[in-house]
Amino acid sequence: MEYGPAPEDASAVRDWLRERGSFGHFIAGRFTRPGETFATRDPSTGEELAQVTQGTARDIAKAVRAARRAQRGWAAMPGHDRARFLYAIARTIQKRERFLSVLETLDNGKPIRESRDIDVPLVVRHFYHHAGWAELLESEFPGHLALGVCGQIIPWNFPLLMLAWKVAPALAAGNTVVLKPAEYTPLTALAFAEICAHVGLPAGVVNIVTGDGETGAALVQAPVDKIAFTGSTEVGRGIARALAGSGKRLTLELGGKSPFVVMEDADLDAAVEGVVDSIWFNQGQVCCAGSRILVAESVASRFETLLRARMEKLRLGAPLDKSTDVGAIVDPVQKARILSILDRATAAGAELVGGDAAPGCFIAPGYLRNIAPANPGMIEEIFGPIATLSTFRTPDEAVELANNTRYGLAASVWSESATVATDLAARIKAGVVWVNCANTFDAAAPFGGVRDSGYGREGGREGMLDYLSVPVSAPRETAPAG
Ligand code: NAD
Repeated sequence: MEYGPAPEDASAVRDWLRERGSFGHFIAGRFTRPGETFATRDPSTGEELAQVTQGTARDIAKAVRAARRAQRGWAAMPGHDRARFLYAIARTIQKRERFLSVLETLDNGKPIRESRDIDVPLVVRHFYHHAGWAELLESEFPGHLALGVCGQIIPWNFPLLMLAWKVAPALAAGNTVVLKPAEYTPLTALAFAEICAHVGLPAGVVNIVTGDGETGAALVQAPVDKIAFTGSTEVGRGIARALAGSGKRLTLELGGKSPFVVMEDADLDAAVEGVVDSIWFNQGQVCCAGSRILVAESVASRFETLLRARMEKLRLGAPLDKSTDVGAIVDPVQKARILSILDRATAAGAELVGGDAAPGCFIAPGYLRNIAPANPGMIEEIFGPIATLSTFRTPDEAVELANNTRYGLAASVWSESATVATDLAARIKAGVVWVNCANTFDAAAPFGGVRDSGYGREGGREGMLDYLSVPVSAPRETAPAG
């Protein structure tokens, strides 16, 4: 593959897909011959994009062996040499930003504006940031060791970004990886494999095995030293059970039902823009989406008028169109799952504003109002472009409602008073609380959940610690007896 000037349209991506036709796995630095394959599709049209291989337990075993063989040499390499590879990966992704954005949008259905302006730039930032950690490893984490081989399982909502969150810190710390992308969106991981080969990353440091949940389950059972999983709470729980007593390290980034709290003194226009970034970004398929809007009763009617007007301006449409705000849901199965929650929510008395299903994988942005705390729409993670809207009277009630969930991934608080905002932020149980913003990510800031949203952190110093073993403590000097 030539890493020349970025293409201006989808034709380079389509040529790339046509040339390959079907993909094998990427093991020990090369692509295997495709085995039994399945189709990955553009959800906005249903068009088949490519065939990818359904990974078997044998494929996983082969990938783990390759990662094991490569690990000692990779960990023994001075940190600044590992950093050179991470910088080279970051630069190559940067050069191929347009190509990767188009590929991501085709495979996932997200608007090109998002993959181009958010996903891929954050991926690049993540690799640059972790190249820095590789350089600083010996001085910042003295005595720490790499864990070994890490099995990594990622979801489909931010395919390349979730890969970056997992691969960059693992490699910086001296681990090697076997990564399984989600079955709906394997293509950018396979393009990433080509980038690893292009920059000359030693064979076996990164291995990609495609497939579904069975492939993921085989990876969990394989002789790896850590499993890093991002996905649903139900699957995460099963993995935790399967690994109990195994001695393998485990980090889980799971679901959420994050509160978006608008206080009486909030800048309402800014808060409405925050909702757009929070629940209508990526069709609401965001683990930390501010899916429960809680607004102070005194400003609720004004807020809702603004919200509705803004929502009606959002353009639902073809993901590759630069003016599209809301693209396609990733797969018909996910669309059906969202609609079934909405049916149950309205049957239980909630009123749906917007949220119409359109032909294909499209659902218009919407929100549920007049919704009771026990309504399924209020409890279950919808993972689609539909928020809930309810009110509170006092800050204490806001905190109580915000914490009335089994999850604890993120929260967003809107107030013009720093005291009010920080007081509230401290009382909400969540891994991250944003003030006057939402869905703001940085490679230097640790991200992760509490309660049913999982444990472990990705990003920043804490994220590095999740890929390192605790230091071997120096022997204590004991006072001579007598
Ligand atoms: P999912 O749990 O069905 O799948 C996630 C990944 O796990 C996929 O690669 C899948 O193939 C694999 N998998 C499925 N069954 C498995 C098994 N038994 N053993 C091992 N692997 C298995 O979730 P999804 O539908 O892909 O993603 C949506 C969910 O992910 C949502 O709940 C969302 O909140 C969560 N999510 C969380 C974060 C976070 O950082 N906390 C980020 C993105 C998504």
